[in-house]
Amino acid sequence: MTNLVTKGMDVPSTICPLCNDGLESLIHVFGECASVKKIWDLVERWLDVKLSALRFPIDLMEWVEDSSLSVRKKEIVGAIIYVVWWAIWKLRNDTFFLKTRMKHAVLFDDVTYFSFLWYSSRMRKCRVNWLEWLKNPLLFM
Ligand SMILES: [Zn+2]
Repeated sequence: MTNLVTKGMDVPSTICPLCNDGLESLIHVFGECASVKKIWDLVERWLDVKLSALRFPIDLMEWVEDSSLSVRKKEIVGAIIYVVWWAIWKLRNDTFFLKTRMKHAVLFDDVTYFSFLWYSSRMRKCRVNWLEWLKNPLLFM
């Protein structure tokens, strides 16, 4: 919303609908928001990888590219990050437009499920086991 305001658009509010405590900017909604940090914390624990120090989406993707992870693990982490962003945006829109709030645990379940679905359907050469994916997909690649 802050981008729309800088372009002269009249918007009802620039306050983040997820936490009601910060300006709704790209960096806030996808990284700094206290509500979103809980999702990133769950993802970090799942993957046993520290991601949340990187606030800006492009920094996060550069970190993945520059990391010492194998090509396969980079693909997995990248896919999961894209699904987390999708889940965050869905959470934001449901909160803003539908006035509903999904629990973080349910949102995290969506991240694990949809990232598995996306990765396993796009990377057919690489067989992925659902139970292994749930434990930590990086341990089995
Ligand atoms: Zn917020």
